[in-house]
Amino acid sequence: MNHVGLRIALISTPWPLFNRPSIQLGALKAYLGREVPKAEVDTHHVYLQVAAALGYGLYAQISERSWLSEAPYAALLYPERLDTISRFWSRHARGVFQDREIRLEKVCQTLKSVTDTIVDEKDWAAYHVAGFSINFSQLTSTLFFIHEIKQRAPDLKIVVGGSACSGEMGLSLLNTFPEIDFAVSGEGEVPLAKLCRLLLSDRQNEEVGLISGLMSRAGYRGKASEAFSQVPDLDVLPVPDYSDYFQLLNSFSPQKRFFPKIPVEMSRGCWWRKHSSKKGRGCAFCNLNIQWNGYRAKSPEKMLSEIRLLSEKYETLSLSFMDNLLPNKDLTSFFKKLASPGKEFRLFAEVRASTSREELATMASAGMRYIQVGIEALSTPLLKKLNKGTTAIENLEIMKNCETPGFPGLVSNLILHFPGSEQSDVADTLANMEFAMPFQPLKPTPFWLGYGSPV
Ligand code: SF4
Repeated sequence: MNHVGLRIALISTPWPLFNRPSIQLGALKAYLGREVPKAEVDTHHVYLQVAAALGYGLYAQISERSWLSEAPYAALLYPERLDTISRFWSRHARGVFQDREIRLEKVCQTLKSVTDTIVDEKDWAAYHVAGFSINFSQLTSTLFFIHEIKQRAPDLKIVVGGSACSGEMGLSLLNTFPEIDFAVSGEGEVPLAKLCRLLLSDRQNEEVGLISGLMSRAGYRGKASEAFSQVPDLDVLPVPDYSDYFQLLNSFSPQKRFFPKIPVEMSRGCWWRKHSSKKGRGCAFCNLNIQWNGYRAKSPEKMLSEIRLLSEKYETLSLSFMDNLLPNKDLTSFFKKLASPGKEFRLFAEVRASTSREELATMASAGMRYIQVGIEALSTPLLKKLNKGTTAIENLEIMKNCETPGFPGLVSNLILHFPGSEQSDVADTLANMEFAMPFQPLKPTPFWLGYGSPV
């Protein structure tokens, strides 16, 4: 097939936060648009359409809980297992919807109806490739959309990528679901651009198995778990393109519109993994970095210009840093420069508990409203088992600092049932909890074992 041009649909299905565009889709649209000029890329934030149909409040309650959010589309995919999935839903929904009882069947009805509308209103056969970004809580919804879209456009090539597709997971999706043609392992820019160029040429059958970071039934290069192909320098990336999200939002009735947040990305990977005592492993429970090889960060100049461009283009001052944690270098000077007069940013970012009071003060002056801090535990021996590289007193210090008027508010978790924790760790935590009482409460979060966690 030698296309004059290549039409690509990039799709993000429920359940990302509805009030911000997908950084994965925005970054890929901008990159492919620049690197493959013959490609025409549309991004489809179908999760926003679903949120508007379901009601933003209900969507948000479901999307904050990974087990709940995977359940409804699982029931649509496998209706013969509805009873089992309903019991699962009821167990996880207990206490979530306050006094209302939200039945799975009702949610499924709405989801089915809005999904049908979304799938029917677009001419999927006009595209050559559909790429699905599968991250946290997006697996069953993506599989359902793929199933429905493939029925309407059987020749459409389906590519999946995202953190839920790295290594063996992508391979397993490819082997289990015949509708999927390719799975990207690791970040998508380079493998997708190569795939697009290949699809535009006549060589696709011979060479598709040679693209590093791309798995297909024709084969793949190297070991699936190690095959990455990533941009060496994040400064060469174009500014993400969120225009499709804003166009969609502006097409809604005034009652359904809201002020969105813009996602920005300063780094990929986690610098703590390199610095931690167990080199390359990072925190014992964490699998947030399986789609990246190493750590890369944009220069402060690049980031400052991106933030200014994005906020002006989309007329929005609310921005969320999507980094697993902010870089540890030049943070103070970066936020000093960002704190320009006349711009009242409202920022969110994730930082380590070792972030100093001075750094917090500078962030606050630039508009940092909330920070998510990896507190995880209030016992130093337990933090050691978690390989956090922090101590209980450091955790208490940042919790206290965040109570300072004008400083960013704190969002954080306390991990429960971590394997290897002992009675003495629990006693230590309870004792230290006394000191934490005046501060913003931590959200208790049961430990769950993610694919690729070093634990
Ligand atoms: S939890 Fe945060 S600091 Fe720890 S390894 Fe993961 S990304 Fe890095």
